[in-house]
Amino acid sequence: MVTLSLDIGGTRMKLALLQDGRILRERIAEAYRDDTYQKNLDAAEREGKALMAEMGLTRVGGLGIAFPGLVNPRDKVVVSANGKFVDAVGYDLKSWVARTFACPFVLDNDSNAALVGEVAYGCAQDTRDAVLMIFGTGVGAAAMMDGRLIRGKHFQAACIGGHMAVEAGPDAAPCNCGNIGCLEANASSWALPLFARRDPLFAQSALAKADVIDYKNLKDCADAGDALSQKLLRRSLDVWSAGLCNLIVAYDPEVIVLSGGISRMGEDLRAPLQAHIDKYAWTPWGHPQVRLAKNPEGSVVLGLHRLVLDEIAGNPAL
Ligand SMILES: [Zn+2]
Repeated sequence: MVTLSLDIGGTRMKLALLQDGRILRERIAEAYRDDTYQKNLDAAEREGKALMAEMGLTRVGGLGIAFPGLVNPRDKVVVSANGKFVDAVGYDLKSWVARTFACPFVLDNDSNAALVGEVAYGCAQDTRDAVLMIFGTGVGAAAMMDGRLIRGKHFQAACIGGHMAVEAGPDAAPCNCGNIGCLEANASSWALPLFARRDPLFAQSALAKADVIDYKNLKDCADAGDALSQKLLRRSLDVWSAGLCNLIVAYDPEVIVLSGGISRMGEDLRAPLQAHIDKYAWTPWGHPQVRLAKNPEGSVVLGLHRLVLDEIAGNPAL
């Protein structure tokens, strides 16, 4: 069965047609995080139908929609968007799908979908107990125990793991969620430029001349010997290491998956995090394995494919 996955993120949307756990065809389109969810859905309908037309399809067997915020997957509504997509909370997706693609559908948090994708088809197929940390504009997380996604009473367990506190006190970094000291307020794509620009080393750093301050630039500058870049990269690795130890305490995983754009850093990201866990995490049974997502750009759309197949088969992952 061919399904369509819509991963509507903060800055771009990814669309893919999938069958039997494989991406058949995909495309990237612009997302409008400060505009209405309706505008983004209109674009998703247009792009999705164009993608289907490229394959000669007039309908799909199922639709998966990922959202970068809190969702209620049972009622298929967005619960909290944290400032993104002004009309997303409570949006009537059931009516929208009936009007547009007219097929069974699932709605899930993007981090949850990414973990399902990696467990079903990616780097964590050999386990039923895994957590994921995914690096986008912010940092998402997800947890699976004994093959079941951890969701919680109000659907906010595990998936907002980027908001675990990793520091305390009045000087802790303020976060967009309202708390202070969150992991993503200390080390994420949105927080990085704030830390760079206020550092005394910034004026003489190569980062001061960069068009954008992102982790790709930071890594290149750190490799070239830039002192501020090396300091900020070390600090980010320390913060993410602390976050992984928190996830281990909370969810007892065998495997930890790293996904999203920053995971393109590869071993330079994975190895220090694994070394930290091996040294510090309290896991008398052995060491959880830190792994890089098999397809960091595809884990969300693959997970949506699996979630919609499970829903159609009467085995929803709730
Ligand atoms: Zn936060």
